[in-house]
Amino acid sequence: REAKRYLGVADDLKLSVNAAEVLKKRYLLRDERGDVVETPGEMFGRVADHISKAESKYGGDVESYRSLFLQMMRNLEFLPNSPTLMNSRLELGQLSACFVLPVTDSLPGIFDALKNMALIHQSGGGTGFSFSRLRPKDDVVRATGGVASGPVSFMRIFDTATDVIKQGGRRRGANMGILRVDHPDIMEFIEAKERPGFLENFNLSVAATDEFMEKSRGEGEIDLINPRTGLAGGRLKAAELLGLIATSAWRGGDPGIIFIDRINAAHPLPGEIEATNPCGEQPLLPYESCNLGSINLSRLVRKGELDWDRLAELVSLAVRFLDDVIDMNRFPLPQIEEATLSRRKIGLGVMGFADMLIQMNISYASPQAVALAEKLMGFISEHARAQSARLGEERGSFPLFDSSRLRGWSAMRNATVTTIAPTGTISIIAGTSSGIEPLFALAFVRRVLEGARLLEVSPLFEKMAMERGIYTPDLKVELAWRGSVQEIAGLPQDLKELFRTALDISAQQHVRIQAAFQKYTDNAVSKTVNLPAEATVSDVLQVYRLAYDLGCKGVTVFRYGSRSQVLYLGNGE
Ligand code: UDP
Repeated sequence: REAKRYLGVADDLKLSVNAAEVLKKRYLLRDERGDVVETPGEMFGRVADHISKAESKYGGDVESYRSLFLQMMRNLEFLPNSPTLMNSRLELGQLSACFVLPVTDSLPGIFDALKNMALIHQSGGGTGFSFSRLRPKDDVVRATGGVASGPVSFMRIFDTATDVIKQGGRRRGANMGILRVDHPDIMEFIEAKERPGFLENFNLSVAATDEFMEKSRGEGEIDLINPRTGLAGGRLKAAELLGLIATSAWRGGDPGIIFIDRINAAHPLPGEIEATNPCGEQPLLPYESCNLGSINLSRLVRKGELDWDRLAELVSLAVRFLDDVIDMNRFPLPQIEEATLSRRKIGLGVMGFADMLIQMNISYASPQAVALAEKLMGFISEHARAQSARLGEERGSFPLFDSSRLRGWSAMRNATVTTIAPTGTISIIAGTSSGIEPLFALAFVRRVLEGARLLEVSPLFEKMAMERGIYTPDLKVELAWRGSVQEIAGLPQDLKELFRTALDISAQQHVRIQAAFQKYTDNAVSKTVNLPAEATVSDVLQVYRLAYDLGCKGVTVFRYGSRSQVLYLGNGE
């Protein structure tokens, strides 16, 4: 409480010091002098006021939805993505986290995309691009008689522009760069981030086709195709290429893989998806945007059981909230407005899954965790779909409904309803574990903005260890040093099992949890498959294979210590 008063954000919300710090730095409104002029409670009020206005368009009861929306945010049971918290009621008014922009094979096409990226970053959104349509390096350029410089060289311009914009210090611009596996420049792309300092504002993903994944099981080769001519020039062994991807990812976390054919096969609308948003959870058509929101599962455990009734209520309210966000949104470009309003995609997901499991006495590493993940997401998806169908009846289906695979339903308001976001910042605000990730460590140093570091001990572990009378100063020190309890002598086995951290969980289990959520998620799932420092390239390949075979839409691995990371174990190793 003292700390909160010191931070100047005191009110009746039960926020952690970290949450108050993050809110004060980046979310709460300021006056011209730069002084914070609202409390977190007032921030939620501002958001609820703004979003519930959409209800009046449809003859809804603005006041009662305002208070229902406010209640679920104040309870930290549901939070929308950061731009909705930051920009509601502001003149800018851009409320979405996710955008995909097309990049066409011409100088005006490339620089249009660059300009559009700048506008989106300025408004707090992240951008994804496929660079697959760009002609390869050394291909002909008719206008100048010269040679093309290729996708990777153009990506550098996007990266530099992102650095320069930096979104006024509130939210750093984030990008996803995608290249198809059959683009002639694929090798250069795969290794692009191995150069220190290169493309730091990008996540990279290779768009892997089903043909490529199947051929990589044996000796098969794929054709490399020049997108300008459509002609094949050169062949590569699929297994070797996959090996190169795994090697680069082993070295530094990039690139990830997206299974592009699977993404398109699951997409219910006409049009070809070529890219996702920066963290990979939201595949979108060119110029589409999407707003996300996440239910905090850790707030829904009562006496070790999940409160399914409240979950159902929250899902319905959250879908309504996210649909309202679309109507209140100010879109940064007319093409984005058109593409978004004609499909009305939303992405409802969860955070606090790991904290929920601990409260329910279920180990993340157990088969029960996988079974519960499926049951949970199946339940959320069913209720979310049903609510979108009801909204469709009341407000009309999304305009492209008749040309979609959803037309079997009598009505549907949103072309997609579910997405599992990383919840990088909103999970800090909500004081819970991020997305569907396991606890990273039981004590760790978090690097926050401007190089500051915070030591955090898992409150759930603290509480349980205290209840059992084993939380000694020595234990705390050892925890801060190791991050994990697995090697600490004398601790009860059940506690060790329950508090397995990201690195105490097998890579296979990480993938199985991801796949369980993906099974009932319309869009995709943000998940990092953590590997210990000593993992091998062949471990990475096994992860890819399992993710593909279990139906994931993509996969990202991160080997501990392989590059500068947001979270470090207490000893800074
Ligand atoms: N994002 C971004 N910049 C950031 C963090 C996130 O543009 O610094 C975008 C990006 O599209 C990402 C999405 O927001 O995929 C969701 O990220 P997350 O759930 O971590 O955001 P939060 O709502 O917690 O801030």
